[in-house]
Amino acid sequence: MRHPLVMGNWKLNGNKHMVNELIEGLRKELSTVDGCGVAIAPPVMYLDLAKHAISGSHIALGAQNVDVNLSGAFTGEVSADMLKDIGAKYIIIGHSERRTYHHESDEFIAKKFAVLKAAGLIPVLCIGETEAENEAGKTEEVCARQLDAVLETQGAAAFEGVVVAYEPVWAIGTGKSATPAQAQAVHKFIRDHIAKKDAAIANQVIIQYGGSVNDKNAAELFTQPDIDGALVGGASLKADAFAVIVKAA
Ligand code: PEP
Repeated sequence: MRHPLVMGNWKLNGNKHMVNELIEGLRKELSTVDGCGVAIAPPVMYLDLAKHAISGSHIALGAQNVDVNLSGAFTGEVSADMLKDIGAKYIIIGHSERRTYHHESDEFIAKKFAVLKAAGLIPVLCIGETEAENEAGKTEEVCARQLDAVLETQGAAAFEGVVVAYEPVWAIGTGKSATPAQAQAVHKFIRDHIAKKDAAIANQVIIQYGGSVNDKNAAELFTQPDIDGALVGGASLKADAFAVIVKAA
């Protein structure tokens, strides 16, 4: 039986004071939550600080990126082993902001997926179509292609214990969330697509929805059978809003 996971993607936001204050708020708001995984992904600079601040709570540590290389002359990069060393568990890869601004290809993201699995970390593989692709009726084609970059090279077994985040690009940071029915249809497609290779693994893959999830729309999204929590951007920067989303899951 899979459990929902709500994860906050803090993106390029925060400072030491904010990290401590936000986590203190989350600890208070979430002290009684049960049955839903909770994770935060602060900027890499603050992972160690956040790790100490969440100590003894059930909030897990996540990160927003990883390099494909394990060590060596790769200035500015952070390896899977370093993330593991610092106590991170869930690592976001394939976020549309990295696909767009850093020109990360499906194949490059698949390499990150493999590196994380090899290190015993959990990839949170973000997939999703742009507005133009959506309007052209290409949502399923795009999601299948982004999944296949991993499925076809690493097999369905690689998805064991993994998180997929369906994040329509047009919904990220726009205030325009997919409707529960729209999201459910794509989540079902994603699960069915993995199930073509391995039904048991597909059934236990956590498929989060991401894209303008907030304290008002979360509960309705989570009524859908294939929506297993959320990857939350903007609303994860406020302890009370994030807590409402976690409790709704
Ligand atoms: C995200 O960046 O993963 C995201 C879902 O952002 P927001 O919730 O702000 O749309």
